[in-house]
Amino acid sequence: MSQNKSDAVWRGFMLKCPACGEGALLHHYLKVVDHCAHCGEDFSHQQADDAPPYFTILLVGHIIVPAMLTAEVIWHPPMWVDFVVWLPAIAILSLLLLPRIKGAVVGLQWAMGMHGLGAETKPAIKP
Ligand SMILES: [Zn+2]
Repeated sequence: MSQNKSDAVWRGFMLKCPACGEGALLHHYLKVVDHCAHCGEDFSHQQADDAPPYFTILLVGHIIVPAMLTAEVIWHPPMWVDFVVWLPAIAILSLLLLPRIKGAVVGLQWAMGMHGLGAETKPAIKP
């Protein structure tokens, strides 16, 4: 099987095992599975910590703020429209992206052999 780091990141983003692309990577919304149900790859040491929320906030902000400013300049909507449109958009986008971004971070960590603090670094995918 030919594989590179971008495959592992994409498989993680699609919430699949970065090793085989078949088994689920997360359960209960944000919990990383201990082992892939399909190939048995060990994910028990994977810790994404604060990276997924950070990248989610960064991405959602870069999507919502320009859209909000553009709408403000073009239509000048009243304040209540901003609350009704943008607050749910921020919440929905954040909830949809957070697990996928966590999957992508775990996929990259797995590909680079980053298996938790103090663990030996041994890349799953050679550079
Ligand atoms: Zn797998």
